[in-house]
Amino acid sequence: MHKITLIPGDGIGPEITDAVKSIIAASGVDVLWDVQEVGQKALQIYGNPLPDVAIESIKANKIALKGPVTTQIGKGFKSINVTLRQTFDLYANIRPVKSLPGVKTPFSDVDMVIFRENTEDLYAGIENVINEDRVEAIKVITRKASRRIAEKAFEYARQNNRKKVTAVHKANIMKKSDGLFLEETRRTADKYSDIAYDELIVDNTCMKLVQQPEKFDVIVTENLYGDIISDLCAGLVGGLGVVPGMNVGEDYMIFEAVHGSAPDIAGKNIANPLALLMSSVEMLKVIGETRAANSIQTAIYKLLEDGKHLTPDLGGSATTSEMTQELCRLV
Ligand code: NAD
Repeated sequence: MHKITLIPGDGIGPEITDAVKSIIAASGVDVLWDVQEVGQKALQIYGNPLPDVAIESIKANKIALKGPVTTQIGKGFKSINVTLRQTFDLYANIRPVKSLPGVKTPFSDVDMVIFRENTEDLYAGIENVINEDRVEAIKVITRKASRRIAEKAFEYARQNNRKKVTAVHKANIMKKSDGLFLEETRRTADKYSDIAYDELIVDNTCMKLVQQPEKFDVIVTENLYGDIISDLCAGLVGGLGVVPGMNVGEDYMIFEAVHGSAPDIAGKNIANPLALLMSSVEMLKVIGETRAANSIQTAIYKLLEDGKHLTPDLGGSATTSEMTQELCRLV
């Protein structure tokens, strides 16, 4: 029996985490889910959006599966997602983006993995109100964080038979901060002579991504660029409903989809659970449940190829429950 922290989150979070729980159960893996609330719900229950009990649960279990959590725009508490990544030093946000069978897009052979630095950059949250007409936000880039995300990306490339790592930056303008990031990616590239290395400015990257996404292999980049590029790349392969993610550090891992809480469709039973399910496939591999991981992966491909039980974001008319039932049958 595996004990795993489960954060349902809010918005579509509870619907898709329920779906993933039942598909994992149908695959025959025994999990004791240690359910923890964070965000607005936790604020109501504990008076704290990130209660100690949730932190302690992740500390004890080392692994969490997490639904999305809403962060208010321009007000409210600091993002719980960012705080969790910083608290557990989950420095690598790894996001595989792959064309899928049966999902019609202008491209058919996208297969890349984004390595997004996950602990610093403008997400350090240092914003100083100088006066009512001026706010200064500080971008933090350190040698250590740049080096370890670069090493993670290159090591992944080597282990997974990838051919090229592309560093995405804006060092033409932010010469010192992005310059430091590049210094470390170059230094790391020198140690991996078996992997090709190139560099692209982030704006040019966006154009190339929508013209020839199949040319990209592994991308390594800073926090903000990685966040934006990830959603762009999701759009290349069928949308946010099909792109998984994982937040990885030395001691802890939190698996979550790239997408957010999707308030526009929350509670309607039409959210696509596949992105979180694909994240859970990666989680199952990490905990040694390879057979179940493979059987869920195969079920996802069968479901997509068959095309009869797809949620509206993929052009179908199935509900979350119908898609989930079909996946439970297929695993
Ligand atoms: P979003 O990712 O929630 O939604 C963007 C669009 O994609 C919406 O139209 C939504 O309906 C659609 N979409 C997303 N996931 C889907 C799914 N599984 N199935 C079908 N359609 C899906 O982005 P947003 O609307 O900009 O953000 C909403 C909230 O989510 C914000 O508060 C934001 O801070 C938060 N957020 C949280 C996380 C996280 O918890 N890791 C990540 C991103 C955004």
